[in-house]
This record gives sequence, structure tokens and C-alpha cells, in this order.
Amino acid sequence: RLYNEVQDLKGNIRVYCRIKPFLSGQDKKKSTLEYIGENGELVISNPLKVGKDSHRLFKFNKVFGPSASQEEVFLDTQPLIRSVLDGYNVCIFAYGQTGSGKTYTMSGPNMASEENWGVNYRAVHDLFQISRKRKCSIIYEIGVQMVEIYNEQVPQPNGLAVPDASMYAVASTADVLELMRIGSMNRAVGATALNERSSRSHSVLTVHVRGTDSKTGAVLRGNLHLVDLAGSERVDRSEVSGDRLREAQHINKSLSALGDVIFALAQKSPHVPYRNSKLTQVLQSSLGGHAKTLMFVQLNPDADSYSETASTLKFAERVS
Ligand code: ADP
Ligand code: MG
Repeated sequence: RLYNEVQDLKGNIRVYCRIKPFLSGQDKKKSTLEYIGENGELVISNPLKVGKDSHRLFKFNKVFGPSASQEEVFLDTQPLIRSVLDGYNVCIFAYGQTGSGKTYTMSGPNMASEENWGVNYRAVHDLFQISRKRKCSIIYEIGVQMVEIYNEQVPQPNGLAVPDASMYAVASTADVLELMRIGSMNRAVGATALNERSSRSHSVLTVHVRGTDSKTGAVLRGNLHLVDLAGSERVDRSEVSGDRLREAQHINKSLSALGDVIFALAQKSPHVPYRNSKLTQVLQSSLGGHAKTLMFVQLNPDADSYSETASTLKFAERVS
């Protein structure tokens, strides 16, 4: 087990927090971020309160502040990702309100330079590199699949060359970039609408790894789910109706189902309620059992976002 370096205190679930920087033009805004400790401590202040009552301390496996680079974030997820080559199933997802940096963490702001790449491209790139360099008799095949879960429905997955029904073989990181380009083109909506809608759908990139031992013929399989979740913000029922209300209800249902599954796993409960949403069904193989799960809790430190920040932290506390 070359890459099983991740030693968890709390079973196989770890929680990282990442705080979005203020973007230019927002410099004068008030921040709720008070303190980030070396060992995963985070202190957030409630802008509506004063004195020591206004501060609350949270504890994560790690906190990435506003200046953390994409590379720093990736380095702390790399061992987890590499354990897929040992046959582990891994799920990494980003949770938070719209605008908190979920897509930035998972995909990056754009593909233009590698420096910008988020966890998903770096993960695929790393798996290609390491699977070739590894000095052992195992020959790896890698396939990827992209699905968008919208209103609890999973449309046909997008893929390249299809060796079998569930796996699309890819030979390089460039293939994956091409796949994503095709994937986004296949969607029936324009760029602006896509952005709008992406905050209301869960996007799941699955990397399948199959390793065949060239000496014994033994086969190992691992999969990696990389998930950019729908925005967790509460939608005011009195303000929306029709499609928007239905979307909000589906998001609500699937995010609570995800919370319930992770809570059950953290409690080591004998019953894990996977069947309550499409999202948890799709992710089931990489949640629980021997699988390893990493949640990025994304925060927008803007004081105006305090109530959403508080509800995101509540979600995180329940599962960690
Ligand atoms: P979400 O996917 O949660 O809705 P985004 O990832 O789209 O949020 O982030 C919102 C905006 O903030 C985008 O313009 C994004 O590029 C920017 N942003 C988010 N996180 C960071 C970061 N760590 N550093 C720089 N810009 C960021
Ligand atoms: Mg997004």
C-alpha cells in the first residue's frame, strides 16, 4: 500500500475549510474572518453582535485562508487521491453557498494556465503521471465520466471513447480537458444560463481506475468522485415559485440527504440512508465502507454573507 498515508482521527472522513478572498472592489467590506490557527482552528465573528459573544471557534482538519494557492490546497489532498491507485474509493466534494468558491476549488477559475487548475484537473493529471511512473507490475487504465444532477435527475453521462458502458477511457490530461469541453457544449444552455444553472445542479466528475497485475492477472479497481455541489443557500419560499421553488426543494432534499449519510458514517451508525436522494445514490460507492471522504467547506467571509456562513458551519459541525 504505497499511497495509504492518510491517517484519520475520525474514521475516513475529513473536513477542510477554504475561505474565499475579497475580490477587487470589495476591499472595504467588513469581514467575519477573525483568526485561522495552525491546527485547523477558525474563529468567525457575528457582525450583529458585540464583545466575546460575537466570536465562535470551529475546528477542521485544516483551514485554507484567503491567500492559499490552488497548489497548496492540492498538496493536502494528493495522498487521498493517490490511494485510488491502491483500490480505494474516494469522494471529494465542495459545499457552500453560491459565490463561496466551490467551482474555484474543484475546477479553478479557468483552464488557461495550470497554476489556476483546481483539484479535479490536478487529480487526473497526477493519477496519469504516477500510474506511469510507479515501479510495479500493475498496468493501469483510467476512465472518466461527467454527470450533472439537476432536479434529482441524472441525464446521460458525457464521455470519450467507450470501452464499456460505464467507463470512458482516457489516455492523458488533455483528453480530460477535451471531455469537459465537449461535456459543457453538449448542454443545451448558453454560457450565462450555464453559470446560473450550475449553482442549482450538482456536477460529478468520476475517475475510474482499473489496475491489472501483469504477473498474476489480478485486478484492482478504485474510483474517485469529485463533486461541485449546488449552492447551499436557503431560498425564501415566499419569493420564489414554479421552477425555482422546485429546484430549491430538490437541492434542499439532496444536501440534507448527503448530510444525513455523512452524519451516519461519522457516528458509525449501522444504517446509512443512501437511498434518500439521487446524489447519495450516485456517490454511494465512495461514501462509507473503506472509502475515504473529504469535504471542502467553502466560506465567503463577507459580513453580508454571515447567515449563510453560519448555516454552512452548522452543516460542517454536524458531520465532523
Ligand atoms: P461557487 O462555485 O461557490 O458559486 P465560484 O468558485 O464561482 O463560487 O467563486 C465566485 C467568484 O470568486 C469567482 O469569480 C471566483 O473566481 C472567485 N474566487 C473564489 N475563490 C477564490 C480564491 N480562492 N481566490 C481567488 N478568487 C476566488
Ligand atoms: Mg460554482
